[in-house]
Amino acid sequence: MTQTSTNLFRQSLTDPSEFTITYELVPGRGSDGKRLEKILQLVEDAQSHSRIKAFSITDNPGGHPALSPTSLGLEIQAMGSSTLLHFSLKDKNRNMAESQLFECHRTNLLNLLVLGGDFPRYGFQGQAMPVFDLDSTQLLSLIAQLRHSYSIKKGAPGQKMKLPPMDFFAGCVVSPFKILEAEQVWQYVKLLTKIKCGAQFVISQLGFDMIKYQELIRFTREQHISIPVMANVFVPSLTVARIMNTGRVPGVILPDTLLQRIEDEQKTSDRGEEARLLRAAKMIAALREMGYAGVHLGGNNLNFDSISFLLDQAETLTGPDLAKETHFPEPSTWYLADDCSNKPKKYKTPLFYETNDFVHKQAFNERGAFFRFARKFSLQALNSTFFTRIYTFLEYLIKKVLFRCQMCGDCTLSHSSYLCPQAGCPKRLVNGPCGGSINGYCEVYPKEKLCFWVRSYQCGPEPHCKNIRATESIPPKDWSLNKTSSWLNYYSGKDHCKLKNRK
Ligand code: SF4
Repeated sequence: MTQTSTNLFRQSLTDPSEFTITYELVPGRGSDGKRLEKILQLVEDAQSHSRIKAFSITDNPGGHPALSPTSLGLEIQAMGSSTLLHFSLKDKNRNMAESQLFECHRTNLLNLLVLGGDFPRYGFQGQAMPVFDLDSTQLLSLIAQLRHSYSIKKGAPGQKMKLPPMDFFAGCVVSPFKILEAEQVWQYVKLLTKIKCGAQFVISQLGFDMIKYQELIRFTREQHISIPVMANVFVPSLTVARIMNTGRVPGVILPDTLLQRIEDEQKTSDRGEEARLLRAAKMIAALREMGYAGVHLGGNNLNFDSISFLLDQAETLTGPDLAKETHFPEPSTWYLADDCSNKPKKYKTPLFYETNDFVHKQAFNERGAFFRFARKFSLQALNSTFFTRIYTFLEYLIKKVLFRCQMCGDCTLSHSSYLCPQAGCPKRLVNGPCGGSINGYCEVYPKEKLCFWVRSYQCGPEPHCKNIRATESIPPKDWSLNKTSSWLNYYSGKDHCKLKNRK
């Protein structure tokens, strides 16, 4: 399909002289009804102004089913507005993701916000199966390949065929609002990895700590990140503020001080509406001064008059106190500026890590003392089904006891401080955490289990908060390896390391 219509969002966001505004829409469960009517009315009203450059549409938010973003996106596009589709990975495997990318390209829905997504919660007759076949770094890599003509691999139908380039504009998310050092450092490491994998813009998590917003911008400058970064500004009603304050919205922190302020404002004649809108307007003005490329605006129960008032105010406000007036930090939050100076001078690497790393390097590093022998022995075992079974069973026994191994067949233990992500992370992420943790706890087990990647940070070598850099994104697991020996797969070059099978 020829791409004829103008991509207002992309045009605006890639123009350094523009401050881009997008607005988030949350379609609910069902294909009709008042909620959708309100959404479409808002879009129609917004067309008289040209300030909203795209409507972003969530993808099964909160981990429960809702109208698909593609369907609503097409309607909005037909009304003449640009869209930004959230593209999450919790409910679709890699083939479904690819298929939906083709659909998006075919229908000219080219702006995508790539994210892992909230853990699936509610669904037809029970909790849905969490998929997470790809993570956000892996999907960004797929999109980058589709952008530059994707070659179908040998052995697959259509092998060696090159798909025509698909001009997606795909961005990623980062949270600068994490409370613990481990969570925050991981967010920045993963941001750099996502950019390396092809993210073309960044949108922050929503938050209310203005120092953290400042920190994200400073970090991107220090890292010479040239892609546009948008801040996420949310206008919560009292009900939503209360929910956010309990930590029930994955990755969102709304401090007690802000909740108290919103409760006080509720006592006024307009039930605090003007105060909430003015606060958001001040935030937008402050974020513009900080150097953000735009703002991703959201809120519940906002009509276009409220949004219009808010944006009018944001255009006129200026001054150094705006950030101070809208700054609501969570007590004991770690800031990047705190750096590692309050750590003990000599870091003691945990013995579990030291021991496993030593053994790993000797057996699985080509320069290791046991590597040649281990590879020769393993390749010989592969010649016999009987020995392959014994070998696989022994590997399973050892790794089950030491690491709670799930026999995924493609071992990534050395990338997560020798803790198994298949056993420890409910989303089975291998390239760092999602954004859902709160105060170090896993989104799926709040206040109960620490995030797997926080534990990995704490169990590993010296923390690298002074030297944050991108990691190599581990490619998606080949599911044909499931329940086979990861050691044999490694030595025979079948796993993600693709070791050359030299004798
Ligand atoms: S083989 Fe897979 S499941 Fe087993 S320890 Fe390694 S990463 Fe975990």
